Amino acid sequence: MWKKRFLVFTFSTVIFLSCFAQEIQFNKADSTSKLTEGPYIFWGNEKATIKYILNDSYVSQDIVVRGEEIFSFNLEGFDGDFEISSYPVTINPSTYTDVTKFFVISDIHGQYDRMIEILKNNRIIDANLDWAWGEGHLIILGDVFDRGDKVTECLWFIHKLEMQAEDWKGKVHFLLGNHEVMVLQNNLSYVHDKYKKTAELMQMKVSDLYSQNSEFGRWLRTKHTIIKLNDVFFVHAGINPRLTYYNYSFEAINNIVRNNIDATKDKIKYNELLNFLFGSDGPLWYRGYFEDTKTSAQIKQDQLLQLLSDMGVNKIVVGHTTQDFINPFFKDSVIPVDTGIKSGNKGEALLYENGIYYRVKANSYKEQLIFP
Ligand code: ZN
Repeated sequence: MWKKRFLVFTFSTVIFLSCFAQEIQFNKADSTSKLTEGPYIFWGNEKATIKYILNDSYVSQDIVVRGEEIFSFNLEGFDGDFEISSYPVTINPSTYTDVTKFFVISDIHGQYDRMIEILKNNRIIDANLDWAWGEGHLIILGDVFDRGDKVTECLWFIHKLEMQAEDWKGKVHFLLGNHEVMVLQNNLSYVHDKYKKTAELMQMKVSDLYSQNSEFGRWLRTKHTIIKLNDVFFVHAGINPRLTYYNYSFEAINNIVRNNIDATKDKIKYNELLNFLFGSDGPLWYRGYFEDTKTSAQIKQDQLLQLLSDMGVNKIVVGHTTQDFINPFFKDSVIPVDTGIKSGNKGEALLYENGIYYRVKANSYKEQLIFP
């Protein structure tokens, strides 16, 4: 697999950095907790700055960047290599047709080990954690952020896997969830203390770790809210019929959300569409498909089927509202995928292959879900 991957790099400069000319260390602490966390990359004028915490000390290293290059580097205290590209970021299409297999996982919430276990046991990745699913599409339905303490590990892994999948004509789709947006907007309600401490040692706000000039930040700001594969919609929480009143295509909604992640609270509050899109009835928060919800009015089956028909799809796959197991409802038109990965030892995934939907787990369990 790496051989093929390497071909991509023949047009680029690959630099292995294990030591750096400019190294600054400060904020040496006596604490016994000894935090090691990161790295976070920040793009500047003809340079990239690699910032991380090593045993409670903040380390910042500049590397010279001239033009478009792909860098691979490793750091003391961290496993494996990190790869970054100074090429401009691109926004992927949000519609795909003739997709023969897809795999959906949702609401990872920093549970890196559980995510890896599920992907590895279902052969989406191999024993080296590299892409092993050929032309398949992996959909990560949002909420990678918050709660758990391995968010950064999740982000670097998805970042790498996305590039690897491309080499095999496969695809990784990382959709925005409410927790991605919350952290980018510096809402720290669910942020693990580890990241607050990291930001403090770096003398930043938590949201600055994901600012527009950071690698994670510019990458996350290319992500979609809604994508369509074949005749299926994928969205973190759900689509409220109210969305259709605004008469925007879902592609336009993706742009509006992306372009307003950094909008002021007042702009979002006083703009009706933005207030809806970022609010409790919008695609990042809506819970109206589920019975046990207090935040959204429950949708009726006929209303939902009409909505999907109006939008030209026949199914919608959602996360956000945690279920005991994957169990489609509303005549198999809604498939909920969030099954509690956030707990660290639970959680299922949705597999579609050869025209059939399956519920799968981190072991060999595989149950057909929808019967013709
Ligand atoms: Zn959510």
